[in-house]
Amino acid sequence: MSPQPETARRHSSRRTKAAHLSCPACHGAITGGASRCPSCQFTGADTMGMFPGNPPPLLPILDVANVWNVADVKLIENACASFRKRFPQFHWRFAAVDQPPTVPLNLLGFWLLNTATLVPPETQHDRAWTVLLILNRSNGNAAVIPGYAAEPWITDLGWRDILRSMREPWRMGDSGKAVVAFLSAAQKTLEREWKNIRPTKS
Ligand SMILES: [Zn+2]
Repeated sequence: MSPQPETARRHSSRRTKAAHLSCPACHGAITGGASRCPSCQFTGADTMGMFPGNPPPLLPILDVANVWNVADVKLIENACASFRKRFPQFHWRFAAVDQPPTVPLNLLGFWLLNTATLVPPETQHDRAWTVLLILNRSNGNAAVIPGYAAEPWITDLGWRDILRSMREPWRMGDSGKAVVAFLSAAQKTLEREWKNIRPTKS
């Protein structure tokens, strides 16, 4: 049977930690309920001023930079489908942009994930469980932005390791395989987290 993170939630003492989310701007801790980061004063609304206008619809694969061809898209879709068999709560979005290196990629992603209109049949609940991987073609940087329901499951450090797994194929120009490597590393990390929080039988 597939693990159900939402069910696990109730059993877990990790949930107390889950209330401590991290700031998308400085990665400092934000305790539950605070709307402003205590370290850098970031608030989600700041991104509205940084990225004026309306974001494009957040399609499952939003390839503004033309990095994925038809075969890559197929690979990514298959990897997502297999991931969802194991962890059906999680939804994935992959965006490739071509932005100047000075654009803060994590904040651009945060803005996209939080302000882009839902793409039917996507629901608000699905969006909360969505993890966005955003890539900047101009400098090869990548950032991961998890929705608030998905965020407690993998730490910032965990995501950094997961991103590392896609570095090699991305560098080789294998942009499809890079995403597959990313998803496979994310699944391994979640399997481990799931085992850690599962109530032990005594
Ligand atoms: Zn901050």
